[in-house]
Amino acid sequence: MFCPSCEAEYREGFTECSDCGVALVAALEPRGPRAEIVPGLTALMETIDPVELAEVVDRLEKASVPYVVEAGTALSLLDGRDEENEYAQWQARLSVATDLIERAERIVQQARRSHRPYEAPLSS
Ligand SMILES: [Zn+2]
Repeated sequence: MFCPSCEAEYREGFTECSDCGVALVAALEPRGPRAEIVPGLTALMETIDPVELAEVVDRLEKASVPYVVEAGTALSLLDGRDEENEYAQWQARLSVATDLIERAERIVQQARRSHRPYEAPLSS
């Protein structure tokens, strides 16, 4: 069993990731090769959560991974996609230098593991 969020593997009998709190799946979706959006730059992730974006960007900067953020409510227009919802929900796309994509993916996983928006802060 695998967590679809952080990709941790669990033994049979577990149903939920202890880190992410999400339901486990029998197999992870195979990842296809990622396409470069321009030469040297590959899309890493899309998110609608500015907090998650900030967390990942902070970690990329500390790791010296070059990145680009595109954000707004009309990314579909930027992509030349003819969609009905031109003015969609805010979303951001984060792209990184292609030769550092594997390192960047590990950074995203680490950030998601540590980012727990639904957990109330402990008060003393
Ligand atoms: Zn997990």
